[in-house]
Amino acid sequence: MNKFEQLGLENNLLQAITDLGFETPSEVQEKVIPILLEQDTDLVALAQTGTGKTAAFGFPMLQKINIESRTTQGLILSPTRELCLQITNDIKTYGKYLKGLNVTAIYGGASITDQAKQVKRGTQIIVATPGRMKDMISRKLVNISKIEYAVLDEADEMLNMGFYEDITDILSHTPLDKSTWLFSATMPREVSTIAKKFMDNPVEITIGTKNQGTDSVSHEFYLVNARDRYLALKRLADANPDIFSVIFCRTKRDTQKVAEKLIEDGYNAGALHGDLSQNQRDLVMKSFRNKQIQMLVATDVAARGIDVENITHVINYQLPDEPEIYTHRSGRTGRAGKTGVSMVIVSKSELRKIKSIERIIKKQFTKKEIPDGMQICEVQLMSLANKIHNTEVNHEIDKYLDEINALFENDSKEALIKKFFSVEFTRFFNYYDKSKDLNAEAHHSSERDGGSNDNSTRYFINIGHKDGYDWMSLKDFLRDRLELGKDDVFKVDVKDSFSFFNTETGIKQKVLEFFTDFKENGRFVNVEVSEDKGRNRNRGRGRGGRYDDRRSGRRDDKRSGRRRTDSRHSSGNRSERRGNTNASRSRRSNFDSSPSFSGSSRPRRSRR
Ligand code: ADP
Ligand code: MG
Repeated sequence: MNKFEQLGLENNLLQAITDLGFETPSEVQEKVIPILLEQDTDLVALAQTGTGKTAAFGFPMLQKINIESRTTQGLILSPTRELCLQITNDIKTYGKYLKGLNVTAIYGGASITDQAKQVKRGTQIIVATPGRMKDMISRKLVNISKIEYAVLDEADEMLNMGFYEDITDILSHTPLDKSTWLFSATMPREVSTIAKKFMDNPVEITIGTKNQGTDSVSHEFYLVNARDRYLALKRLADANPDIFSVIFCRTKRDTQKVAEKLIEDGYNAGALHGDLSQNQRDLVMKSFRNKQIQMLVATDVAARGIDVENITHVINYQLPDEPEIYTHRSGRTGRAGKTGVSMVIVSKSELRKIKSIERIIKKQFTKKEIPDGMQICEVQLMSLANKIHNTEVNHEIDKYLDEINALFENDSKEALIKKFFSVEFTRFFNYYDKSKDLNAEAHHSSERDGGSNDNSTRYFINIGHKDGYDWMSLKDFLRDRLELGKDDVFKVDVKDSFSFFNTETGIKQKVLEFFTDFKENGRFVNVEVSEDKGRNRNRGRGRGGRYDDRRSGRRDDKRSGRRRTDSRHSSGNRSERRGNTNASRSRRSNFDSSPSFSGSSRPRRSRR
């Protein structure tokens, strides 16, 4: 007998479960479903993400409502539009053998009239985001005065998002004797407050330790300098050729920016955040589900509860403000019996956050090194080799084979393999050839050396006379952008295409952070800690071997529209600029980091 049968579910639903391929109930399902089927009770269920909570409330609700009736009997509130749509689809799938079932999604950003029409046709279950739901209630477009079951899904997140009042308002339009089921991954104080307020003696089910992360996820962190975040992200992506990931940023702006840069750098990336139109968000989610997008850059709010299968990596581009949020992020991977990796790119000042997260998830992070160029070349090469090994021959090419074979008549198999792989390898090799070590410790000595003695730090900035600055206007520019006082920027020394300046060392972090990814008039303005002028700038960088060889390289600097002629400064290698915007490849790696400002009077290098 199917294990789901033992929970008391009826045949129509069991059939759907079989179709879904669910074989055994998850722990939360096993505990929650029988209770909800047998009793009319309030319930609080805490279980980590990816444990099948939707089915835990979905199936009982479907079994208990009266399908013959067109009255709205169930209301499910969820924090985001994406989640609302996902739950709606899930419930429809679970109830696909229930004739006459109508499930309606109510969420902002789509036509309210259409949603009202759907409701009017008679819907037994409404899945809604609080904002739009409240709106529909006040316009009398829905009637929830007869509901019997109310679900607060991802309750912690709804409260985080400030939906407390909306929820209160919505529930005030529902009957007192309904059952309320609250589902949450974590149980912050706000959730227990809401449980007390809206529930009557709820049954409490806790799966695992409260707030604990899933076992199927391993946690890693990578220590880099804050300004190297983006490069580190690309390395991590390149070191995992089959990555299918969600990348979390803290703000909508960063989310958009990182996604744009990845796209520009040739990755299949997309952004998901609240400033996009509903239509854009739907498109992004669709491409992500279809795996056309390999890297979904998202805010916490927009990605909450998103269930996409087989996400291999969650990357914390920045850590969340609240350590609890980390659980939700890492819960996007390692779902439904799969394993996943949650990576954190962290700067020194954030290291203590790792500790607080460890306390919450009750797991240790592994400290990992950002792979160096050669490691990435190797991974990419072997990945290609395996792909080729496993490729089925497409006989459409047969007709061209004579010609191709003729071309290679004189090449041995060995020679051919070498040439073939060199095509791909050289791309990565050329790019990473001049790459630096991004691991923060490796920079330590040169960081300390950076700048002049005492308490001030000297910086290099890649704008100068050519860009119309003299020392006064550059000082003004810096003070204005950094919001600094009159004497906070000093020793400004403007050269032709770059300049130097000093600030108090105390605000070094601020200066560097501010100029991470900073654009002025459409071009990137770089600021780096400068080593003493005139001395060897490469001192103390890198880890030896040829990948440290920061010999002068050419660079392709499309964005600024011109080439640099100075070769004075090569300490950073952190340029993200490159001319690689050709989007025809399925996914391409990044080819940045040629030495930043080096003799580029030579012809522009073709990237492929
Ligand atoms: P949660 O809401 O707890 O984060 P979901 O309800 O979104 O989790 O479910 C996570 C994933 O697990 C979904 O893809 C779902 O289809 C799958 N799933 C749920 N229950 C089972 C089960 N009993 N067996 C196999 N897969 C399941
Ligand atoms: Mg869920």
